[in-house]
Amino acid sequence: MITIFLGPPGSGKGTQADQVAKFFNFKPLSTGDLLRAEINAKTQLGNEIKEIVNSGKLVEDDIVLKLIERNLKKNSNINGFILDGFPRTIIQAKKLTEYLEKLGKKIDCVIEFNVDKKLLVNRLINRYQCKSCGAPYNKLYKNPRVEGVCDICGSTEFTTRKDDKKDVILRRFEEYKDLTSPLLPYYNNLGILYKVSADQEVKKIFDEICNILKNVLT
Ligand code: AMP
Repeated sequence: MITIFLGPPGSGKGTQADQVAKFFNFKPLSTGDLLRAEINAKTQLGNEIKEIVNSGKLVEDDIVLKLIERNLKKNSNINGFILDGFPRTIIQAKKLTEYLEKLGKKIDCVIEFNVDKKLLVNRLINRYQCKSCGAPYNKLYKNPRVEGVCDICGSTEFTTRKDDKKDVILRRFEEYKDLTSPLLPYYNNLGILYKVSADQEVKKIFDEICNILKNVLT
């Protein structure tokens, strides 16, 4: 089963992708995470894309398509994927469909994360993560249970994303509006778009998504 999570930066796609994938035994694939891993490992690709990612602009379609294809191939024994942050342009969407057709697969469901944009800037400016395991936190509503100690791995080092600065966040919203939001009518016309209200508590959003996926699966 292939599910796409679509929504603006900060709408909670990553948090839900991890939790929902765990519940259904699917694999979450985030192009943002894959690109950041290349940057942190200082690979040739990482060095080429670093400035683009840090400036909030989208990386070239061909680059992310290759990354996604490589990861889908590598995990071909997995029975489901949640794509988080991909596709982000109409070209990526069309190429993904073509690629999946070759494998005899299709996109089963696209979940749109609906959220008031005003909430998002504040959310993004306040988020941080464990430097060691990447567990996400937010100064406003989700700090570690013991101050300064990661709930998941016990690390005491935390970091913030370079693109979570106000000017870069605004650029990311522009990119979303101009290049990614046209995917909503595109998938709606294909009859596979479902909406969740992403302003609610994490658990409520999780339940809504699980119900949608269970219905699509049956
Ligand atoms: P994210 O972690 O999804 O917020 O992505 C962080 C950054 O990675 C984006 O602002 C883009 O620079 C880049 N990126 C992630 N996914 C894509 C994609 N599908 N197409 C192009 N650029 C992407």
